[in-house]
Amino acid sequence: MAGDTFQKFKSSFNRGVTAISVKTSSSLEKVKIKTHIDSINTEIQRTMSTIGQTAYGIWASGSQDFSSLQEQFVLVQQKKEEIQKLQEEYNAIDERDSQILGTAGGEEPQNAEPKPGEVVCPKCGAACAATAKFCRKCGQNLQG
Ligand SMILES: [Zn+2]
Repeated sequence: MAGDTFQKFKSSFNRGVTAISVKTSSSLEKVKIKTHIDSINTEIQRTMSTIGQTAYGIWASGSQDFSSLQEQFVLVQQKKEEIQKLQEEYNAIDERDSQILGTAGGEEPQNAEPKPGEVVCPKCGAACAATAKFCRKCGQNLQG
């Protein structure tokens, strides 16, 4: 029985370590993406300001021809698309985290669908390895 207890401890310990390293590397990635988004936003602000000044200059000179701004508009559009992609990347990391760590702060999913080689705990509904003696969540004896 001592071996079982150790195995249980070991597996929950490993899960904890995995969760921590996932959290750490993900938050680093997220910070990197957010920083990138911020710097692109700064570039957009700068370009927008240039557009405004140029547009005013054109208007003040009595011209109706704003075609020279086209290039700047395209630049802003490209930067906005870049942010969109980064945001999607960011969301994908978020989603991956919630899949690995569980949506409610690392909680095991209730009534999980058993995969091949798994059984559902009759007491709490957690999916456990078919070879497990006890439920990994509630400790229910699965062999008896
Ligand atoms: Zn259980």
